[in-house]
Amino acid sequence: MKRYDVAIVGSGPGGLNAAITAKTRNKDVIIFGRQDLSSKLVKAKHVNNYLGLFDMSGAEVAERFKQHLANMEIAITEERVTNILPAGSYFSLLTKEGIYEAKTLILATGVNFGELLPGEKELLGQGVSYCATCDAFLYKGKSAVVVGYTRQAEAEAEFLAETAEKVYYVPMYKGKDKDIVPELAHGIEVVMDKATGIEKNEAEAGSSAMKLLLENGEIQAHGIFVLRESTAVDVLVPGLAVDEAGKHVMVDRSMATNIPGCFAAGDLTGRPYQYIKAAGEGNVAALSAVAYLDTNK
Ligand SMILES: Cc1cc2nc3c(=O)[nH]c(=O)nc-3n(C[C@H](O)[C@H](O)[C@H](O)COP(=O)(O)OP(=O)(O)OC[C@H]3O[C@@H](n4cnc5c(N)ncnc54)[C@H](O)[C@@H]3O)c2cc1C
Repeated sequence: MKRYDVAIVGSGPGGLNAAITAKTRNKDVIIFGRQDLSSKLVKAKHVNNYLGLFDMSGAEVAERFKQHLANMEIAITEERVTNILPAGSYFSLLTKEGIYEAKTLILATGVNFGELLPGEKELLGQGVSYCATCDAFLYKGKSAVVVGYTRQAEAEAEFLAETAEKVYYVPMYKGKDKDIVPELAHGIEVVMDKATGIEKNEAEAGSSAMKLLLENGEIQAHGIFVLRESTAVDVLVPGLAVDEAGKHVMVDRSMATNIPGCFAAGDLTGRPYQYIKAAGEGNVAALSAVAYLDTNK
């Protein structure tokens, strides 16, 4: 299997800047993310605090970034990384479509601004999952709820419904996106309500073992999938050191994490949440990855 020099997870300013820096240093790079780069980038109405790009919308900034990538012949691999396993001298990255290997890893997945649902963290792995791709097989002939925070979760719900007997889908995104939730395939039941918490149904087993609490009722099912734009990073990479809240990765000034060969950049490493900070850290992380490769030939 091909082994890349650097794998980058995340296509916001942090990941993109890491990619252009590593490419400039002649490294073989793969970057995972989205063709529209980052919803946080696209949604910004005015960006005035990024050097050289004055009074642009986030969408215009994103176009500039895309042009920069195209000029440097960097293509984004539009696959969601669901698991990363450190394997000593390299990393294995798992997506729905396949397995990739890289000698170094740069995490730039961003953070979720919202709070976790009450009960979510406590029940993770005990009926709550963050990855339909990884855990769908557990729900063969069973029922599951998908709480989707971005439209990408719709595809995950459809994937899950190929295995599960019954899937409920609760879209948590706002505005016009929510108004156009399409009719999902495989008989998925779309529930237009707001998730407020997760509980285990201690008295019950089977199909009502878990409860998703809603503003206007509840859904009982075997399992609950919570799908946000960014997965909790210590779930993505087992053994990764994070802060007490579990939101930010611990890094030093070279953007190195506690795992040799693994670096992080952007919102994921802490505040301030700003494009230029993310991009700068992406640059440092890539240079550190290059130095790591040079000393571990
Ligand atoms: C509405 C809004 C307006 C803002 N305006 C400004 C502003 O004017 N100026 C400013 O400086 N900052 C602004 N920000 C903050 C800025 O958006 C963030 O600081 C910045 O985008 C962080 O970049 P990042 O690279 O860390 O991550 P993000 O931009 O969050 O990008 C992370 C990317 O990684 C992808 N990803 C995550 N997990 C995976 C995975 N497992 N596999 C594959 N891909 C994955 C995500 O889909 C996403 O595309 C704004 C934020 C918002 C929400």
